[in-house]
Amino acid sequence: MAKKIIITIDGWSSCGKSTLAKQMAKVLGYVYIDSGAMYRAITLYFLRNHVDWNDVPQVIDALQNISIEFQFNPASQQSEMFLNGENVEYLIRDLVIAEKVSDVAAIGEVRTFAVAAQQAMGKKKGIVMDGRDIGTTVFPDAELKIFMTADSAVRVERRFKEFYEKNPNVTLEEVKANLEMRDYIDSHREISPLRKAADAIELDNTHIDRAGQLDIALKLAKALL
Ligand code: C5P
Repeated sequence: MAKKIIITIDGWSSCGKSTLAKQMAKVLGYVYIDSGAMYRAITLYFLRNHVDWNDVPQVIDALQNISIEFQFNPASQQSEMFLNGENVEYLIRDLVIAEKVSDVAAIGEVRTFAVAAQQAMGKKKGIVMDGRDIGTTVFPDAELKIFMTADSAVRVERRFKEFYEKNPNVTLEEVKANLEMRDYIDSHREISPLRKAADAIELDNTHIDRAGQLDIALKLAKALL
């Protein structure tokens, strides 16, 4: 049987991490795990249930009532996020969630909860996981670590297009402000801030298209298999 490895893809918001991670998983026959979806689902639960995430006992209590899992949806051919049995894949992509998720993800108890679930998913290897702290904290011994970057104007434009297709009322300014805020909070928080792991390979895709980035990343992966 072919050797299975763990591939981590970290980086700034809207760098195309999930696009690359999904492409790689498909070609390699690996499982793709979107760690950001987990923080987004927890944020949705907190907002719906009026949980004050600055109040530790409330957070601990709430986390006991949260079950998050990925289920494959044959219709979309994607694995989607389920929160307590409900498919929340569409809801968690809303700007309302994006406005709060970085604050929620900075809470220690929330990270402990999510990281434990992520590590359990990697037990058998053969996964590609994207996020902010996957190569530094979740899988510090991963065989291949990629750190993605792209010019901020390019990132804003890409994310704006995605949002605009769903909601034409959204403005470029709103999207830009959200990305800047999340990048700031994610890279300045006390616990597991966004950092390039010392042994991660940087991939700047400002001027590279999807096929080009896949080609680079697959060469890196295949050299390890
Ligand atoms: O990747 P995505 O943009 O969906 O992530 C949403 C948010 O979840 C990030 O801005 C960050 O605050 C948090 N996150 C994190 N650690 C991860 C993945 C996401 O803190 N591994």
